[in-house]
Amino acid sequence: MTAPGATVLVVEDDDETRAVLVRELGSRGYRIQEAADGQSALERWESSRPDVVLLDLGLPDMDGLEVIRRIRREAMTPIVILSGRYAEREKVEALERGADDYVTKPFGLEELHARLRVALRRAAGPGGDVGARITVGPLVFDVSRHEVAIDGRAVDLTPREFELLRVLLGEQGRVVTKGKLLRAVWGQAYQGEDSYVYVHVSQLRHKLAAADPDGALRDLIVTEPGVGYRVRAPDGGEPAAQT
Ligand code: CA
Repeated sequence: MTAPGATVLVVEDDDETRAVLVRELGSRGYRIQEAADGQSALERWESSRPDVVLLDLGLPDMDGLEVIRRIRREAMTPIVILSGRYAEREKVEALERGADDYVTKPFGLEELHARLRVALRRAAGPGGDVGARITVGPLVFDVSRHEVAIDGRAVDLTPREFELLRVLLGEQGRVVTKGKLLRAVWGQAYQGEDSYVYVHVSQLRHKLAAADPDGALRDLIVTEPGVGYRVRAPDGGEPAAQT
């Protein structure tokens, strides 16, 4: 199983290891961003919002734990650690700081793919299944393939619209504040720019409505006045947070 379309940020200062990772993950259909130190990793993450971060903890300019802390301050982007064989405390601390999983060096590529798949699946939220797909009525949101379809017909979303829908679907049944959407989709620098959220949610609703002539998804994204938005719970049932 592959994850075509998902973007992975590879953070590794060892050129040889990084080259192997970039080549192998690229051949499996991932889109790749790469960084050789902590500062450029944070800049890449801020500018491109990858789907998953593969992070070596031993970086030349910054402790990898600091990279986790800075990312977690803003978003729940899955982070998979590349760690030394006997660095148990390091792994535990990374996980306690919000990393999702780790791979021990030297790692097998199959193990690495498995960790990344699980991390991407977890990122899909409570509605995600083994294929990292979320289904709401006629809507199918495929995280790993970066595809959205209604009644089997693809819906063409911009990257921002896709991210917005992903964050909302990850919180099915729960309110998501505008601030959280801004931080997750645009980044900390856009704090207070609520109009970005209004405009993009409006565009997203129009695109979904155009692809949904039966109106089955009319109430998919509900506005919570003054707070944010709420995506309909699965099958119109109770909010996921209460189950
Ligand atoms: Ca290193």
